[in-house]
Amino acid sequence: MQRFELYIDGEFLPGAAWFESLDPASGAPWAEIAEARRAEVDRAVAAAGRAFRTGPWPAMSATQRGKLLMRLADLVQAAAPELAQIETRDTGKILRETSAQIAYVADYYRYYAGLADKIEGAHLPIDKPDMEVWLRREPIGTVAAIVPWNSQLFLSAVKLGPALAAGCTVVLKASEDGPAPLLAFARLVHEAGFPPGVVNVITGFAPDCGAVLTAHPGIDHIAFTGGPETARHVLRASAENLASTSLELGGKSPFIVFADADLESAVNAQIAGIFAATGQSCVAGSRLLVQESIKAGMLAELAARAGRIVIGAPGEMTTEMGPLCTARQRARLHGIVTASVAAGARLVCGGVIPEGPGTYYPPTILDCSAAPEAPCLHEEMFGPVLSVVGFADEEAALRIANDTAYGLASGLFTRDLSRAHRMIRALRAGIVWVNTYRAVSPIAPFGGHGLSGHGREGGLAAALDYTTVKTVWLRTSEEPIPDPFVMR
Ligand code: NAD
Repeated sequence: MQRFELYIDGEFLPGAAWFESLDPASGAPWAEIAEARRAEVDRAVAAAGRAFRTGPWPAMSATQRGKLLMRLADLVQAAAPELAQIETRDTGKILRETSAQIAYVADYYRYYAGLADKIEGAHLPIDKPDMEVWLRREPIGTVAAIVPWNSQLFLSAVKLGPALAAGCTVVLKASEDGPAPLLAFARLVHEAGFPPGVVNVITGFAPDCGAVLTAHPGIDHIAFTGGPETARHVLRASAENLASTSLELGGKSPFIVFADADLESAVNAQIAGIFAATGQSCVAGSRLLVQESIKAGMLAELAARAGRIVIGAPGEMTTEMGPLCTARQRARLHGIVTASVAAGARLVCGGVIPEGPGTYYPPTILDCSAAPEAPCLHEEMFGPVLSVVGFADEEAALRIANDTAYGLASGLFTRDLSRAHRMIRALRAGIVWVNTYRAVSPIAPFGGHGLSGHGREGGLAAALDYTTVKTVWLRTSEEPIPDPFVMR
């Protein structure tokens, strides 16, 4: 079995214990992972705090930081095939997807490498004649970056990139499910030449690791991606250190198709929107809202396409859908499907746990038109399950689309430009994709509101989230400051 160690203060270390990571395709252990508990968390936070205050990092210019990030980008690109193999093995995400995604992750580091020396302060036109006042943009401090198991290299790049560009130091915590790719990524951080303690990579379980890290007095900012329930724990923990937070949480994103849409594109985008990554995607288009007049046809086409998806070993390049990451996740998802059928949803396809090893689940479509309260329409499932409802007109489409506590993404397929603009204005979501779905870029902010969290990742503004403003007052007058207690 391969072993993956923690990376703390520039050294690779065993943790408090070893735990096994399972290959979701076989259910068998394939790697041993070093587990961080309180002592390792303390050590990592202390190292990051030291690296923030002393040593080479705070003395480096922003341009030098950018060069280190650029080196990291090149190393990620070169190692993408190897990292993709590790992520596929550890999480079951198919090799086609991990290969393409990790190669693109390099561009996220390049984007923030270029941004490092463009984070500027400001000069204020102050209302006093003998004062100069300006704002310095300074790094916010030591960051706890916490990611779930899906798309970890991507989800950590959108935190590490802006944090390091801004001059912060980071303790990155990988999920206890599928942590190997991030611990392997730590080797590239080391090779890139970041000073010890600037980036630390650990993993562990909630009570001894995640909870300790988020409440730690040495943490100034928490960048969290995960589910809303965990986010509540994170916020409660941050009541201890009063760290600022950005939360990228789940979604129940509507995918809205009007009768005038290009149906071929809509079907292709919907298939990718819900079945790519085996549906384990925060922006999964998990609620299809389709105009009544085309609903039967679109459902038939989607079911036919779902039936042709090649399900198999995640490491085969011909595989289009792999297993879910954990057995726990499959049991939860299947429970929601079963409860939804009991609530009146009609199973169009899938919905049956297949025989054999691995945590596979088939592409599943539920017609919920007669069951508006079915749990599959309201709960995030994080799996290959599409819930469908018909709508009569634009008003009904909007009402159903916004009938969710989440607000991450939305998709809209129509050829009517005026309607598209009206819908864009009225949809309550952080992202609206029109006649496309799932497009992402380092240049474009990403995030939501409501149960989907707060803050944005990607883009220029994300780097500012890792800074704080220092206001500087400088008196220019040659005159002595008058005695304040002498009346004039
Ligand atoms: P999760 O919330 O269970 O875990 C996320 C991370 O939090 C893991 O690293 C976990 O170890 C850690 N954690 C668990 N308990 C903790 C605690 N008490 N304190 C601190 N950290 C703790 O999420 P998951 O099930 O692994 O991932 C799926 C969720 O992530 C879904 O809801 C999905 O939508 C969301 N997600 C969101 C985005 C986004 O960008 N909006 C991207 C991917 C995934």
